[in-house]
Amino acid sequence: MPYHYDPGTLGPHDVEIAITHCGICHSDLHLISNDWGVSQYPFIPGHEIIGTVADVGDAVRLLAVGQRVGLGWQSNSCGECEWCSRGLENLCPASEGTCVHRNGGYADSVRANARFVIPIPDALKSEAAAPLLCGGITVYNPLRAHGVNPSSRVGIVGIGGLGHIAIQFARVFGAEVTAFSTSANKEEEARALGAHHFVNSRESKALKEVAGTLDLVLTTINADQDWGIYIQALRPTGTLCFVGVPPSPLSVHAFPLISGHKTITGSNTGSPWQLKEMLDVAARHGVKAQVELFPMAKANDAIDKVKKNKVRYRAVLAN
Ligand SMILES: [Zn+2]
Ligand SMILES: [Zn+2]
Repeated sequence: MPYHYDPGTLGPHDVEIAITHCGICHSDLHLISNDWGVSQYPFIPGHEIIGTVADVGDAVRLLAVGQRVGLGWQSNSCGECEWCSRGLENLCPASEGTCVHRNGGYADSVRANARFVIPIPDALKSEAAAPLLCGGITVYNPLRAHGVNPSSRVGIVGIGGLGHIAIQFARVFGAEVTAFSTSANKEEEARALGAHHFVNSRESKALKEVAGTLDLVLTTINADQDWGIYIQALRPTGTLCFVGVPPSPLSVHAFPLISGHKTITGSNTGSPWQLKEMLDVAARHGVKAQVELFPMAKANDAIDKVKKNKVRYRAVLAN
């Protein structure tokens, strides 16, 4: 049975989006099962949304009814704190998640503050662009933040919803790209996406061979690994950046960090200007998510398939 709710009057700074597409992100699965203890039911997941502007509040000037737009993880922030004024709204302590204590995008419509509703470049197809709104920015932002350029050597751990986009962006930035996966059968696809090298991360010999070769390792997986091997893979001053969440606390030796001036860090989505930049880069350089489309009414089937790790690489619901 579909769930109906009354969203009330549209706020002056808000936009209502008529949803055409919504990607399924792993965060949705965590919210559905309340893994993070923040979910309230009934609950509508979804934060990789594309649609058209259906209505705008009185104070909204830059968006017009009928325009194609996207909405990602974040739908509002305080607009006044240090982080908001520095254009880093994703770090605002009062950040609102699109489907945290709000109704998200597995729906006909969704609302958000206009600052977080991003126009979609014409060159991008809606279904291939929807996953960029969360998965895409999640990997784009750390590549930019850590200065990836044609001299860089980048490792991407995991070739899934996030990793398959990360390989494409790293390649667009001109880096030499090494893909790490536990599935040997993903080598061909990783190379087709732009990876120069492939390492089967089940083979400790292959992992040891890349020691001291990478400037940035971006890990997209939600599983535990021997992180020491990835720290070993870094060149001096290199960075190990987490965007996937391993279930166990990290356990690493400090000495390799000290001796090689290496950094362990993380990254969390991106701000509206970063989203705009990422979409522009994707449009100009042909970066797109590889998706499997499902009708919105089959959302439960799509979620099951994502849970079983059977989707290559991102599931997208379409109205
Ligand atoms: Zn997400
Ligand atoms: Zn703020």
